[in-house]
Amino acid sequence: VNDTKTALVTGANKGIGFAIAQGLGAIGFTVAVGARDDARREEAVGRLRAGGMDAFGVALDVTCDDRFAAAAAATERKAGRLDVLVNNAGIAGRTDGGAQDPTTLDLDVVRTVLDTNVFGVVRVTNAMLPLLSRAGSPRIVNMSSNMGSLTLRTGPVMAAYAPSKSMLNSVTAQYARRLADTQVIVNAACPGYVATDFTGFDAPRTPEQGAAIAIRLATLPDDGPRGGFFDDEGVIPW
Ligand code: NDP
Repeated sequence: VNDTKTALVTGANKGIGFAIAQGLGAIGFTVAVGARDDARREEAVGRLRAGGMDAFGVALDVTCDDRFAAAAAATERKAGRLDVLVNNAGIAGRTDGGAQDPTTLDLDVVRTVLDTNVFGVVRVTNAMLPLLSRAGSPRIVNMSSNMGSLTLRTGPVMAAYAPSKSMLNSVTAQYARRLADTQVIVNAACPGYVATDFTGFDAPRTPEQGAAIAIRLATLPDDGPRGGFFDDEGVIPW
């Protein structure tokens, strides 16, 4: 019997994803570092191990349909089950030339952003659910954004990115309803405005601060909330 819990974090090679991996590693999780680039993935695994954490790499491009069986098999081989899945990988999408101005919207950008931010989450989640259902208290956290809230109206106009997070919130609610009679608890998180490549490192919060809500939702007790959308302050309106 293996008592160590395992967490898979997608897009864990840098930014908020790396900070989530580090935070979960620090509280005793074995961390599966999901990343698409071999060199960046191994570098991140090395950094976690150098910090005394138990980590291994999982080759995972969330847009690549043929990688999921292998990613699930690799996770199963290393850990036997999955306790936590954090769907963190996400992209803003091109904004040049009015690509995300709704009046000049580039639908190829919309397709690319949805493929990563929404379909990627569905692909990874469905590939990993069999392993998650072997865990005692499985948790899924989807990294969303308050830009996806239909009521808050935060952030610049980004007609591919913001709707992708609205849809991710909706998909999160669908999973929570579907899994209501199981142990699997699914929620969405907003990290706040965080200094990473994503924001050109021009934002007030650190990756560690952005990671905190995801770590909290990844370690909810069995009677914790389901199908919600949260940041550090609490519930965010959809
Ligand atoms: P970064 O750009 O720093 O990191 C994004 C991560 O996602 C990278 O590891 C990247 O890998 C990975 N990724 C992108 N596309 C794919 C793919 N197809 N397959 C696998 N991995 C992929 O961004 P952040 O850390 O800032 O953002 C993380 C999440 O937080 C995103 O979902 C974002 O939408 C969300 N968020 C961020 C905010 C912020 O202020 N930073 C605010 C609100 C939400 P690679 O290195 O290979 O490109």
